Amino acid sequence: MSKPVRVRFAPSPTGPLHIGGVRTALFNYLFAKKHNGVFYLRVEDTDQTRFVPGAEAYIMEALDWLGIAPDETVGKNEKFGPYRQSDRKEIYKQYADELIASGWAYYAFDSAEKLDELRKTAEAKGQTFIYNHSVRDTLDNSLTVSREEAAQRIANGEAYVVRFKTPVNETLYLHDIIRGDIKFETNLLDDKVLFKGDGMPTYHLANIVDDHLMKTSHVIRGEEWLPSMPLHVLLYKAFGWEAPEFAHLPLILKPIGNGKLSKRDGDKMGFPVFPLEWKTEESTSMGYRENGFFPEAVVNFLALLGWNDGTEQEIFSLEELVQKFDLARVNKSGAKFDPEKNKWFNHQYLQKQSDTSLATAFEKVLADKGISTTLDVTRIVSLNKERANFVNDLWDLTDYFFVAPTNYDEKALKNWKEDTSGLMQQLIAVLEGISDFTSSNIETVVKEWLTVNEIGMGKVMQPFRLSLVGKMMGPHLFDIVEIIGKQETIQRIQKAINTI
Ligand code: GLU
Repeated sequence: MSKPVRVRFAPSPTGPLHIGGVRTALFNYLFAKKHNGVFYLRVEDTDQTRFVPGAEAYIMEALDWLGIAPDETVGKNEKFGPYRQSDRKEIYKQYADELIASGWAYYAFDSAEKLDELRKTAEAKGQTFIYNHSVRDTLDNSLTVSREEAAQRIANGEAYVVRFKTPVNETLYLHDIIRGDIKFETNLLDDKVLFKGDGMPTYHLANIVDDHLMKTSHVIRGEEWLPSMPLHVLLYKAFGWEAPEFAHLPLILKPIGNGKLSKRDGDKMGFPVFPLEWKTEESTSMGYRENGFFPEAVVNFLALLGWNDGTEQEIFSLEELVQKFDLARVNKSGAKFDPEKNKWFNHQYLQKQSDTSLATAFEKVLADKGISTTLDVTRIVSLNKERANFVNDLWDLTDYFFVAPTNYDEKALKNWKEDTSGLMQQLIAVLEGISDFTSSNIETVVKEWLTVNEIGMGKVMQPFRLSLVGKMMGPHLFDIVEIIGKQETIQRIQKAINTI
């Protein structure tokens, strides 16, 4: 690679960051780190009508949480700053002027009403009105009025925009790292607005100017921007600048059915599509963080939405992803979003956590439930985590350790036969006699008692479990017995005898 790698994530702060945006940020991050380059974040807020307060802070917080914070951004290493386009407002006009001077752009005065009328007339004839080479010479712009007149009208304060003068009858030969060679006819393009009379550039102009000034080597972004690539390449040509390389990432598709995963799908189908929770006055959208996902798990499953390393490997640390990431292995076709698989990833990362750190997290859950305990939470976590996807799941899996069962599973009750209460009473006596109250010793003593007295295992073990747990689940029974202790065990058996 010739140029030093500098890539950017350029979100518009119009709301919370959708998971597709996070994936774009991640792929940029991975690419930058892989090539010892720079990953920067530029806030594209030129469209003031779509500005949403809090969105920018949300984006920064989300990337921080995921561990993929940019090297340069607003307030951080502003080497080519400012990094917020609204703070760069003064920069763009000269570039619009430059394109006017070189004949690559023109002023257009057509009013919104006039354009609307043209649109409607075309529609009535079953056609679409496009402001392009075929009509621009008939409209109200500096191609049809003299330069002096145009200058005078602007001086008089008349509303105008600057439009790109798309070349006619040219074939563009474009290259995308993921999609390969793309041929495009310029006649299909409209003359996009680059600059507005209110002094603000549009996305297209600001994006190109900034990518150039901020020395962007590669533009890695979502597929929805592919249609803008011809215009962007033409803009680089118009300015006489070397264009960056382009890579358009595949869409993220709905889990079922067709089409792009939308911001609404998550809340509709009960899974998060945002990294962090997002609250507005009307509604709250779920976030991965608040739903108990580990950031490493989110990064891992996002990395596999459209990329793989060519092997069956699915679990990758961030460092490994950096090492292995390759744009050449990114798919062209859309990647289905699978919320069940996301849970699976979280499950895997939960198993990797140390028992002590899981216990610390679980103690918070217990405290929220008003439970203070002297039990060995670390051991409880260690015995039960295998079945948990989230720290919160641990509560459902282990609540009986902390709170004695108050009712018993209907189906399991059939194991409580006529002679069960008597056997349970004998069991109490056996337990009372054990002084080394450890799991393996209790097991040895109880089994010896069963063997000597020729009592079937199931006859005792099932009601025993039912007494302690309330249902037929949980880890090795004698581990439970040791953890809750002799006194509590006996109390629970007694209670079962009395109630069942
Ligand atoms: N501001 C655009 C967005 O919201 C950036 C597109 C690009 O990366 O060029 O996605």
